[in-house]
Amino acid sequence: MKSSAQVVVIGGGVVGASVLYHLTELGWTDVVLVERKELTAGSTWHAAGGMHTLNGDPNVAKLQQYTVELYREIEQRSGQDCGIHMPGGLMLAGDRERMDWLRMAQARGRYLGMDMEIISPAEAKRMFPLLEEKYFIGALFDPAEGHVDPTGVTQAYAGCARQAGAEIYQHTWVNDLRQRPDGTWDVITDSGEIHAEHIVNAGGLWAREVGRMIGLELPVLAMEHMYLITEDMDEVAEYNAATGHELPMGLDFDGENYIRQERGGMLLGTYEQACVPWSPREAPWTFDKQLLTPDLDRIAPSLEIAFKHYPALGEAGIKNVINGPFTFAPDGNPLVGPVPGLRNCWVACAVMAGFSQGGGVGLTLARWMVDGDPGEDIWAMDVARFGNWASLAYTNAKVRENYSRRFRITFPNEELPAGRPLHTTPVYDRLTAHNAVWGAGFGLEHPLWFQRPGEEPREDVTFRRSNAHPVVADECTLVRERVGLTECSNFAKYRVTGAGSAGWLQRLFTNRLPRVGRINLTAALDPNGHIVGEFSVARVGTDDFFLFGSQIAEAHHSRWFLGHLADGVRFDVLGLSLVGLSLAGPGARDVLQSVTDASLATENYPFMTFRRIDVGMIPAYVGRMTYTGDLGYEIWVAPEYQRALFDLLWQAGKPYGIGLFGFRALMSLRMEKMFGTWFREYRPIYTPVEARMHRSLKLDHDFIGRAAVEAELERGPARTLSYFDITPDPAEPADVVGDEPIWHDGAVVGWVTSGAYAHYSRRSLAFGYVPSELAVPGATFEVEIIGQRRPARLLPEPVLDPAGQRMRA
Ligand SMILES: Cc1cc2nc3c(=O)[nH]c(=O)nc-3n(C[C@H](O)[C@H](O)[C@H](O)COP(=O)(O)OP(=O)(O)OC[C@H]3O[C@@H](n4cnc5c(N)ncnc54)[C@H](O)[C@@H]3O)c2cc1C
Repeated sequence: MKSSAQVVVIGGGVVGASVLYHLTELGWTDVVLVERKELTAGSTWHAAGGMHTLNGDPNVAKLQQYTVELYREIEQRSGQDCGIHMPGGLMLAGDRERMDWLRMAQARGRYLGMDMEIISPAEAKRMFPLLEEKYFIGALFDPAEGHVDPTGVTQAYAGCARQAGAEIYQHTWVNDLRQRPDGTWDVITDSGEIHAEHIVNAGGLWAREVGRMIGLELPVLAMEHMYLITEDMDEVAEYNAATGHELPMGLDFDGENYIRQERGGMLLGTYEQACVPWSPREAPWTFDKQLLTPDLDRIAPSLEIAFKHYPALGEAGIKNVINGPFTFAPDGNPLVGPVPGLRNCWVACAVMAGFSQGGGVGLTLARWMVDGDPGEDIWAMDVARFGNWASLAYTNAKVRENYSRRFRITFPNEELPAGRPLHTTPVYDRLTAHNAVWGAGFGLEHPLWFQRPGEEPREDVTFRRSNAHPVVADECTLVRERVGLTECSNFAKYRVTGAGSAGWLQRLFTNRLPRVGRINLTAALDPNGHIVGEFSVARVGTDDFFLFGSQIAEAHHSRWFLGHLADGVRFDVLGLSLVGLSLAGPGARDVLQSVTDASLATENYPFMTFRRIDVGMIPAYVGRMTYTGDLGYEIWVAPEYQRALFDLLWQAGKPYGIGLFGFRALMSLRMEKMFGTWFREYRPIYTPVEARMHRSLKLDHDFIGRAAVEAELERGPARTLSYFDITPDPAEPADVVGDEPIWHDGAVVGWVTSGAYAHYSRRSLAFGYVPSELAVPGATFEVEIIGQRRPARLLPEPVLDPAGQRMRA
């Protein structure tokens, strides 16, 4: 065994093997993989090996596409048979909602180049004669679905990596990890120590326990999962003989099961409601290529539906039942990337679909390690999308919810209940008393809208307009015509202090720093000129700044800032030590002025001012800005003052007709002002030139990514963020939710990033990226909403107040 290596990958499942392979592909060959038993000894060996490209996040879908396409290559290069079968797959819909979902999935696939087809139940029956047609109303056929041999794939990755110089040590258990002061690692195994520059936790079923060796509590939990294999079936043999190929795979959402041919019989797996975690507190190290005791009673409800929907299956004998554990993160997507707060420590775990995702996970992690950038938009998989609040118990609640909903639709306006409420701010009870309907982001509850008095604070989940629609319309009118109050604590807030702070931030930010007492908007870029983040920067002293950014990206962004930290600069994540309320609307100044001695007249407190003033008796930082595009103030206080501040503003606002508004109204108001948002319009795959962030780009100073920006300005961006006015279906109006394809001249040319119904302007609006040559004001397009191509016109400016007079008044 080597005594040192550039990288030690811990875990030889399909994911660790893929990471090892991709590191060697990128030229890092002094790499080793350490496996406590044999390769595949965790959840890999007993997997059903199914794979598909479909995923709720298009960026993850792209990586799944890459994974599926990689198998032929590693098979050929390693000489190891991967057992690749590509019979295609049918996703079966039993009701209208599922059919809508399939249409949206098909639409999303269009701009990823996925060639999927909506078919009738009769066509589905022809392709998959085992199904009972009457239970379905349609299906989506994806030719890129198939299955592989899990062991073959893992060995193929390992074989390719070995050919390139990687070493693999089996029967070698990592039982401790120690970091040296220089950031390198001592990997302690039962066969000796390896000194490594980097470590990768690909420990699969034991990823949580490997994390604990270095004081990490990764939000990952294993669940028991069962599939059964039938005896050979005549129906299968007849189909194979008649067609010359195997049956396509099937996914029956109503039955919460998946099915595929396995030799002469069928393999049927379920995601049962009565799901059970495996080793919820600690996974035993003694577990070794073992299976768990099957519990058919637990999956009986799913089997009952399966036997109804596929009657021949009920007649077939069951040859084998497999019950094995595999891991999930709270939202079902992998945990990948550098661990916040630890140098040279990487994870690639919680990969619940190793055969759809393993390749993409390995590729992006290897790029991140070698190039410093994952090369793709992997936000949906970033380990930093969870914070410390994702505790063991939270993870348990969320993973069980996620597992049992695996085949359920999550509607775009749906907020899932498990693990909530967890983080709340002091005004939570007050807002609840005002009938708030709550949502959660990064663990924190925030008000979505306020149901009318006497009515239940609950939103109907739908792809179309919900019961919130008329109420949110009223909230928008309130802000545009009187004054609205909302909570704005769900921003990430950071404080930067210490000598040299200004110089440090200036090097990170595309905009000039504001003067003391002022705020401005800025972007931060990577060296290739892609957007790392978008922030409001408020300066309260020469070297004293508040930064406000997207709350869900708090751990993601703070990892980036801390990774670039300069000597003498202090960077603090403020979290809920600073909370906020926001006043917006033409009456906002009158309300606030009535409770402060500081003059808020525009000449004394112009737009984009940020100062420390007293509001009533409460010490506060007040920024004159709002995302609504109206006159507005964000008032930031320590949490112990937030209730008093709420009561003060509420009382003071009564003569001005104050009311409450929530996040849904905010999203509607910002759309009519053409304000983009993080992780929608601004993401790491876009550049500030594409995103038209020109006002935040000042080329009079040096900043990370500047050379790339200059080059792009010179040649012009390939695509441009555009703003569309859509004509919804008058019979059944629906607005975009994001990721819809944009059509032009009969071809898909772009995709929607986000949108909303702009209540005050009575327009259905959307943002999206299209090729720059098509981004011409007045140009006409179509946006595909729930299977319908709706007319869309590209607008040159905000539909409301394009000169920005309301917020400057
Ligand atoms: C019944 C069942 C059916 C499934 N069907 C499918 C399917 O159809 N399609 C699909 O995509 N996925 C399927 N999966 C999921 C799939 O198995 C996982 O996504 C995949 O195996 C995850 O691989 P991994 O490498 O992350 O983890 P693992 O396979 O668990 O590998 C982790 C490895 O790390 C080693 N290790 C851990 N700690 C240490 C240490 N301290 N020192 C040394 N070595 C260590 C372990 O021994 C293990 O070999 C299924 C899972 C189950 C249980």
